Amino acid sequence: MNSQHKARKRFGQNFLIDQQVIGQIVAAVNPKANDNLIEIGPGMAAITEHLIKQCPSITLVELDRDLIEFLNHKLLDYPLATIINSDALKTDFGQFYQGDKLRLVGNLPYNISTPLLFHLLESREIIKDMHFMLQREVVDRLSASPGSKSYGRLSIMIQYHCRVMPVIPVPPTSFDPAPKVQSAVVRLTPYSELPHKADNIKLLSKIVSQCFQQRRKTLKNCLNTFTEFLSPNPMMVDLTKRPEQLSVEEFVTLSNCINNNMVQSDE
Ligand code: SAH
Repeated sequence: MNSQHKARKRFGQNFLIDQQVIGQIVAAVNPKANDNLIEIGPGMAAITEHLIKQCPSITLVELDRDLIEFLNHKLLDYPLATIINSDALKTDFGQFYQGDKLRLVGNLPYNISTPLLFHLLESREIIKDMHFMLQREVVDRLSASPGSKSYGRLSIMIQYHCRVMPVIPVPPTSFDPAPKVQSAVVRLTPYSELPHKADNIKLLSKIVSQCFQQRRKTLKNCLNTFTEFLSPNPMMVDLTKRPEQLSVEEFVTLSNCINNNMVQSDE
């Protein structure tokens, strides 16, 4: 680790020091020279220095201003790289799209991972894929199936938009400083055609949130604010089930039924 830079807790800095894991990440991403590759939080370039050999035109988005100078210096031999000092949560990723879909990579600060994923989903149509190092528990939630205890709002809203594949489990010892939790790299690939499309995505999101605030109750109880829209059309979903038993497809069906009844009662 660079003696000049002390890891900053408030920037969620856990630097990768495990060359084997770094190699596995680069292999999983498999960058090509012409990729529109963007790394979020390059830090001291542990992953960057390998990615950039395969894709010299990489873009880096780093929040910590002190690291920008370090990166500029470290990557002097790569004039095609773009280094941007900005907060990924506030970055408009549309600015990087010029016809080639974005490939995002990052060993993300764990405190921003969920809001960042939701921020990036707003740009999903211009994203080819994402490889992120996250807390193992978050990766479990992203990839969870109905019935498992990790299954919830995050699983459904991410799986609605993306194919989710956990790729590399990573122990705390791979980082400096070592985090208290296990980590994992996950690959998220936004669908170009959604497999189950909601007629009203805001409604779907609201229904899912409301259901998982009370995951032990039946759907009928969770959805008491929608009672008048649970009929007259017959529901395609068994309302005596609990939210955690419902697949993404069934949540979409439920949401579309309610939406239909709302629209009809408006007419
Ligand atoms: N990729 C490096 C560093 C990981 S630590 C490695 O694997 O070693 C996380 C990095 O994200 C740090 O460099 C931190 O400064 C940066 N970071 C934290 N919050 C950020 C944000 N909101 N936007 C962009 N970068 C951020």
